[in-house]
Amino acid sequence: MKKPLAWAETVDLAAKEQALQVVADQLGDGWAPELTELITGGDTGPVVRPIWGLPLGHTWDRRPGVMLVGDAAHLTPPDGDGANWALFDGAELGTLIAENPGDIDAAFDAFAGRMLPRSAASSEEGYQSFERIFGYNAPVNLRHMMDGVKTSGREYYE
Ligand SMILES: Cc1cc2nc3c(=O)[nH]c(=O)nc-3n(C[C@H](O)[C@H](O)[C@H](O)COP(=O)(O)OP(=O)(O)OC[C@H]3O[C@@H](n4cnc5c(N)ncnc54)[C@H](O)[C@@H]3O)c2cc1C
Repeated sequence: MKKPLAWAETVDLAAKEQALQVVADQLGDGWAPELTELITGGDTGPVVRPIWGLPLGHTWDRRPGVMLVGDAAHLTPPDGDGANWALFDGAELGTLIAENPGDIDAAFDAFAGRMLPRSAASSEEGYQSFERIFGYNAPVNLRHMMDGVKTSGREYYE
């Protein structure tokens, strides 16, 4: 759920049943009780885990001899790509270091030239998909996604 950080403080997490109901209520009307019960019937109460991301378009100046990869370079709210990009960054940087023996900053410059535009584009997509799945309208977006899949007749979801 996308909520301001202060919203969490309005929920009494110690009152487990009530807190679970508050979470389920965020879905709005029209959900099968079997689904909302997956929330309200939980064994444990809700746990608040904030999600962070660097602002879109954020950039940073590189210092000689130092390079960032993965989340440190381009933290984006999770959309299923972050670990993949962290691994990709590492592999690409390793290749460029091997191709520039004795000149680590040449490797870093070449890496930054590829990684920064790539991660900017990926973050843009990431924020869009995060908004779709966790944003204020997430329950409705997800329902539309599922309806779309149903009507497209893909066997995978049948
Ligand atoms: C809820 C959630 C779901 C996700 N789902 C997916 C997914 O399905 N697919 C996907 O590809 N990605 C997913 N991600 C993103 C993925 O987890 C990250 O993008 C990835 O872990 C980034 O790797 P990293 O090595 O850059 O950073 P991290 O994994 O954060 O590693 C950094 C490490 O540095 C350590 N550290 C920090 N400060 C210091 C210090 N001062 N000294 C020593 N060590 C330090 C930390 O403890 C940590 O172990 C998800 C993320 C979240 C939060």
